[in-house]
Parts: sequence; C-alpha cells; structure tokens
Amino acid sequence: MPLTSFIPIAPDSDFPLENLPYGVFRLRSGGPARIGVAIGDYVLDLSVIDKAGLLAGTPVGGRGLFARDALNDFMVAGPVAWQSVRDTLQRLLSAHEPTLRDNQPLRDAALIRQAEVELLLPVQIGDFTDFYSSLYHATNTGKMLRPDSPPLFPNWRYLPVAYHGRASTVVVSGTPIHRPHGQIKPSSSPEPFFSPSRALDFEVELGVFIGIGNEFGVPVPIERAEEHIFGCVIVNDWSARDIQGWEYQPLGPFLSKNFATTISPWVVPFAALAPFRCAGEPQDPPPMAYLQAPGPSHFDITLEVWLNDTRICQTNARYLYWSFAQQIAHHTVNGCRLRPGDLIASGTISGPTKEARGCLFELTWRGTEPLQLADGSTRRWLENGDTVTMRAWAQGDGYRIGFGEATGTIVVR
Ligand code: CA
Repeated sequence: MPLTSFIPIAPDSDFPLENLPYGVFRLRSGGPARIGVAIGDYVLDLSVIDKAGLLAGTPVGGRGLFARDALNDFMVAGPVAWQSVRDTLQRLLSAHEPTLRDNQPLRDAALIRQAEVELLLPVQIGDFTDFYSSLYHATNTGKMLRPDSPPLFPNWRYLPVAYHGRASTVVVSGTPIHRPHGQIKPSSSPEPFFSPSRALDFEVELGVFIGIGNEFGVPVPIERAEEHIFGCVIVNDWSARDIQGWEYQPLGPFLSKNFATTISPWVVPFAALAPFRCAGEPQDPPPMAYLQAPGPSHFDITLEVWLNDTRICQTNARYLYWSFAQQIAHHTVNGCRLRPGDLIASGTISGPTKEARGCLFELTWRGTEPLQLADGSTRRWLENGDTVTMRAWAQGDGYRIGFGEATGTIVVR
C-alpha cells in the first residue's frame, strides 16, 4: 500500500512520500539557496525543519547542513545519516504524525509550492565520468561507424568502458544549450572546416552521485559499491556528432561532449529505488571476480525523451549491461579516488526496440531515417529552438518514484 501524507499527493505524482528527492532551491522572490525535499506539489524546506529542531534525532540535526547551496556536506555525513534523515522526514510528513501537520505556523514556513521556487544545480560536482554501458547503444553505434568490423570492440564485454567528462559544464534542467562550434570534416570534404555543429544530438542516461568517496589507492569492492551512492538523476549528455566524428580518435570524445551536460534538479535517494532492483542483461562471458555483483544490481526505471511535443523514445535502465555497482568497482579497482559529489553516468540507455534507442544518432540511423514529429516536421538532428525533455520514473504499486525532468532548449550564441 502507498504511504499516506497529510499533504495531498496525486497517484501519478513524481514525488510521493516514498520518494523524497533532495534539491537545492531558492524562492523566486529572492533569498539564499537552501536544501529541500519534493513532496507532491511542494518543497519541504529542510533548513526550516532543522532550525525548528525536528531533525535533532538524526546524526546531522542542528548542524546547519541544509542551509547550504549544495548537498555535498550532507553527502559526506554518510549512509547512516541519509537513512536517519529519510526515516525522520517520512514520519514528519505522514498523515498520522501531528508534529508538523498540526503546527500551522511551521507548515507555512516550511512548505513552499514548487511553482514559487527556482531549482539550482543540487551538487558541487568535482568529477564527471560517463560510461558506455548499454549493449544496444554500443552495438548500434559500432554497426554505423564500423560496418565492416564486429560492432563491439573486443574489450566491451570484459570491462565497463568510460571516459572522463567535464564537471564544469554540467548544468541544471532548464539551462539553455548553446549550439557548439568546432572542426568538422564530412566524408565528402577533403579538409576539415570550422562551423556550428550540424549534427547536434542528445543522449538519455541515468547518473548517480557519489555520497562518500574512497581513499586514494584503495579500491571499492563490488559488494560495498552501492554504499557509496547517494542518489540518482536523469542525465542528458548533449553530443555534437560531426565534431565527435573528426576528433574522437585515438583518445575519445572531447569538445563534442564537454560543451554541456544537463541533469534533473531532484536527486532521488538511492534508498527509494530499492523496491525496483532487478536483473540486468545476461553477461557473457561471466565478469571477472571484481565485477561480480553479489545479487541483482540493475533497476527497473522507465525513461522517456520528448522532442518538443513528440515522445521520441521510451527505454528502461534495466537494459543496461553494466550496473552502477560494476561501474564503481571498475572505476576504483586501480585505486582511483571517487569523492563526494562526483557524478557517474550510465551512458546512453538504448533498448532492444527501435523506440528504445536513446539518441538521435540511433533513432535516425546517423541521420539517414528522419524522425516525424507531431507538428508534421522532421528531424535528423536538433534544430535551433528545439527543446529536449527527459523524464524518468520507477512504477510502484499505487505510487511512482519520479525523477522530475531534465530539459534544455537549443539556442544560438
Ligand atoms: Ca554519453
């Protein structure tokens, strides 16, 4: 049965009592940034709740950690503190608990309509790593780029391939995205030339925020990898395919990716996703010992992509080959240090059907099969003024753990 709150929550709301995602916000009318959780159509201002002493029973109560402009200091407190705060908030917001419900002045101060707030980048991101963990995406990409060779490189089924991205250009949902300029070299052109990208694309991904890091030189064993995850967001890894095609060999993408990455503003607690754990794609060959998860480590999370008014993709995180636990174990196996606030993204999440292809590169098969939109227009790549909106949720029995949305509109400088 769904949990009940004294706040009315629609069954299809992204933000029931089971979710309570963390965000950083400020009032549209002004004032400092602080931390809250989403509940129904409201934000619960945790700085107010904490100041009123209602978090006193948690390890972080009274420390002012929620009167901050980023979640990092709360992340550092670790999983015991996260769970304690989460339990306390679920109790305070439940229909049967009078403490907040019957204190009208405190309710008025602490519960703010989401329409009245601006959501900010929730985390100060130190490092951003982007994996490449969908077998379907990697296979489709390989077929298009290397039609005469096997689609997967020999390493792909042995290790989660990734590249180091750029944290400085991770932006919150709603931030306009400038069409990048760069060097491009179509196969028809003998020389490269400088131009605005003509093949601008999105990639639908999930990201996890590292809550607590590991010591320099000390790998995270896979059975403990998930303890390091604070929560999850939607990630749009904007990509300029023409710039990428010319620059990416031999070291991987650079300017074709690092101009912008959009994330959703609400960080869904990893604990909220526990009921949606599932098996991933079968792994063949069996992974090496350090990559063998002790149990199912994938999650049943639906993701959708809308291009303006047309839904152009529906996929699911369960289609990923490598799980977040495997990615973290691999990332640190050489002693690489992860720190609180690091963002680790899954890579484009494509699935087995055509509709489950997670980027235009696949959906239009490298621009050769244009997409039809609801307004009658077609797209091979993103045009100026186009808005890409991603949504994600895990569907429970009578409730959903929603991620809100990650949206961005293409503009010209
Ligand atoms: Ca990507």
